[in-house]
Amino acid sequence: MKELEIVAAEEENCGNFEERVQKLVEAGYETVAREAIACTRCPLHKSATKRVIGKGSCNPKVMFIGEAPGKTEDETGIPFNGRAGKKLDKMVEYMGLSEEDWFVANTVKCRPPENRRPKASEIECCKPFLIAQITLLDPEIIILLGNTAEKAYCPERKLERGVPVEYEGRMILKLYHPAALIYTASKIDVQKAFIDKNRDLWQ
Ligand code: SF4
Repeated sequence: MKELEIVAAEEENCGNFEERVQKLVEAGYETVAREAIACTRCPLHKSATKRVIGKGSCNPKVMFIGEAPGKTEDETGIPFNGRAGKKLDKMVEYMGLSEEDWFVANTVKCRPPENRRPKASEIECCKPFLIAQITLLDPEIIILLGNTAEKAYCPERKLERGVPVEYEGRMILKLYHPAALIYTASKIDVQKAFIDKNRDLWQ
């Protein structure tokens, strides 16, 4: 495995996007994680306790993209490890996915202060890690959990929830973020209907 030089970059020194992705992909998944753990490219590293890289299968059929680590995720380094994680687990169960079928990561690897939304500049700075993860894990379907994931992954598109589209060679589907299901129970049935309508994407 080719090693990457870990650069102690200055704030917002995001570097050349394509070049970073290419180097990360060539270096392999372990280096992606190691680079993200050492990264100081955007200001979010200052308030992060642990980097939250991703969890799940190394050969997933489905990759979920969330927004950003929250308090529990920041403490444990594990994505979707709190209340929203329990909702995601239920969603995955409803989808009929087994452990080997899915992976989840966020648009940024560090927790934004006060759980605010990550800024566009922070998402852009962290995006090479996400794109390298997608390239290396090569899921068949990407499920974007909410608007932030949509804006991060396909900013030039406006997706309709529950309606799959092809994007950069794979299917993508936008659904509600599991946290939205905690605060608005009526969205649970809507989310289930979106899942039912799209089961053939992963079954
Ligand atoms: S959020 Fe991403 S780009 Fe920003 S410091 Fe953390 S790992 Fe680096």
